[in-house]
Amino acid sequence: MIWKNWSETVKFEPKNYIEAKTIEEVKEAVLMAKEEGRKLRVAGSGHSFSRVCETKDILLSIDAMTGIVEVHKEQKQITFWAGTTVRRAGELCLEHGLAQENLGDFDLQTLAGATSTGTHGTGINLNGISHQIVAFWVVTADGELLECSKDKNPKIFEAGRVALGLFGVIVKVRLQLVDAYKLKVEKSLVNFFEILPQIPTMLQNHRNLEFFWFPMTKKAMMKKMSVTDEPVDDPQWKNFINQHIIENYALNAVCNLSYRWNLNAKKVNQLMTKFVGNDIRINDYNKILATERMVRFKEMELNVPAEHFEAFFTEVSNMINEKQYPVVFPVEIRWVKADDIWLSPTYQRDAVYLAFHTYWKNHVPAYFYDMQEIAKKYEVRPHWGKMHNLEAAHFEKVYPKWHDFMEIRERLDPDQIFVGPYMSRLIKDHHQPMADRYYNL
Ligand SMILES: Cc1cc2nc3c(=O)[nH]c(=O)nc-3n(C[C@H](O)[C@H](O)[C@H](O)COP(=O)(O)OP(=O)(O)OC[C@H]3O[C@@H](n4cnc5c(N)ncnc54)[C@H](O)[C@@H]3O)c2cc1C
Repeated sequence: MIWKNWSETVKFEPKNYIEAKTIEEVKEAVLMAKEEGRKLRVAGSGHSFSRVCETKDILLSIDAMTGIVEVHKEQKQITFWAGTTVRRAGELCLEHGLAQENLGDFDLQTLAGATSTGTHGTGINLNGISHQIVAFWVVTADGELLECSKDKNPKIFEAGRVALGLFGVIVKVRLQLVDAYKLKVEKSLVNFFEILPQIPTMLQNHRNLEFFWFPMTKKAMMKKMSVTDEPVDDPQWKNFINQHIIENYALNAVCNLSYRWNLNAKKVNQLMTKFVGNDIRINDYNKILATERMVRFKEMELNVPAEHFEAFFTEVSNMINEKQYPVVFPVEIRWVKADDIWLSPTYQRDAVYLAFHTYWKNHVPAYFYDMQEIAKKYEVRPHWGKMHNLEAAHFEKVYPKWHDFMEIRERLDPDQIFVGPYMSRLIKDHHQPMADRYYNL
């Protein structure tokens, strides 16, 4: 079988594809790899843009391991099977009067996949999904099931919430939740350059603040969200028009036309701002935070310390204006609070993420390359699940715990069972730039 990711930019053919339904079956697959001296990578639902799942040998899926293992009502915690999607987890949380503190803007990832790459949403006072985990259970290279939490295997817990499948196969995660809540989202078109100086104050005043800046224009769509007790106000027809027709079908048509006819990107971006109207919706947290993504795209997402936002953005917009890349997708701008997870891009720093997209058919490597070069000046930490061509030599400089992480990895997996071809490029210092194939543009 040929395995493909969501954006169809990563394809590979594993020798064996195994779908485990129980912990025992996961252990069997891992022990088989160990005994036969083979490699094994685990995939979630394939929503990473980078080649993080790549293997030429065994690919394991735990998509069938879904749902609730146990509800811990008093602590407001739930233990889920790690193959549960973020969407299903949200529905199940609500059934128990609970909610995740924050989500990304999309929810079809598995809980294991989402945590393993440091998936995040927006909110300078809110952490990413990995930080919601208070315990996880992982089948390691010797076929053992390890429980990891602050009290049990604490070092593996600290490191293993963002571990890219390198510590083993996560089979269960226990999440710290909050009481169920509703969110009110307000969308509007703003002059982003006028707003820039106010952003630090706005970040404190709005629980979730996010911008979609239209490159080569002054305009951005602003999304502000706050917790509310107001009744649900989210008519299906309005949602259909805004989310399906405008944000997906119209965007798809615009991207496709401008790609085929090589239209002037600046003019198309200017045109797109005309589609952004004011909108207010109120609904359960998960229905507001997660959105439909029906237009396929490629993405690079770069995290720099929050205090460098204005300088970083200014360089980015200057470069885009100068080079006029043929890109008609908005740049998404989000903020995330610092955490304590060793390879989390927000490890010990409040950060801003700028996400650069291109339509999936559009091949503009210079766009991603130039953005990454600018971000390198600001100690960039790229999103692990998105495109970049950085590797160990860079990561050991920007992650203070890089070597501690690698020590644990080597202890848990001395035979390198969980290291596939891309992972090998990423974690070892090859003293030469990652090949194009791995950059995958
Ligand atoms: C349309 C779209 C929207 C997105 N929106 C956001 C967003 O808002 N915020 C954000 O931060 N990211 C976002 N992403 C990126 C996405 O959240 C991450 O790439 C995430 O890791 C994908 O989860 P997955 O289940 O598809 O895992 P995969 O992509 O399949 O795997 C990701 C990594 O997790 C590992 N892994 C998977 N399962 C296990 C397991 N059981 N045990 C151990 N390791 C495992 C894999 O080996 C791999 O290293 C988006 C992606 C897409 C396509």
